[in-house]
Amino acid sequence: MKASCQCGQLTAIAPDDAQPYVVACHCRDCRKRTGSPFGAMAYFPLGAVTFAGKLCEFTRATDSGHTFTTGFCPSCGTSLMGRASRFPEIIGVALGCFDDRALPAPTRSVYEQGKAPWVNLLGDMAHHIQGRDS
Ligand SMILES: [Zn+2]
Ligand SMILES: [Zn+2]
Repeated sequence: MKASCQCGQLTAIAPDDAQPYVVACHCRDCRKRTGSPFGAMAYFPLGAVTFAGKLCEFTRATDSGHTFTTGFCPSCGTSLMGRASRFPEIIGVALGCFDDRALPAPTRSVYEQGKAPWVNLLGDMAHHIQGRDS
């Protein structure tokens, strides 16, 4: 499974048989981070993903008192990586950055108080007002 930024210099590779834990997050910060109505991140065990290329980081505080770090390409600005200090054993790759369009669906949808009223995620998933994303 390969993910890359828009310009292609930053990549993330995970094993093909990896079963990522996919979270859709409707919080304000994920909306700003992605420029989309919600963020979708595929989480893998730390160490299962190999990153290559230049990566800049931005770290913000979360409402649980931890931090969330976004990794983005300094050339094209694509937000590719996400890491929550509360869950140091996993690392996230932005779902939309994967080249394969057969992407796994989210199993959790969090911070739904920020969800746009016209967003309706299909499938079997847990819905939360507050989140465990960060
Ligand atoms: Zn780039
Ligand atoms: Zn979020």
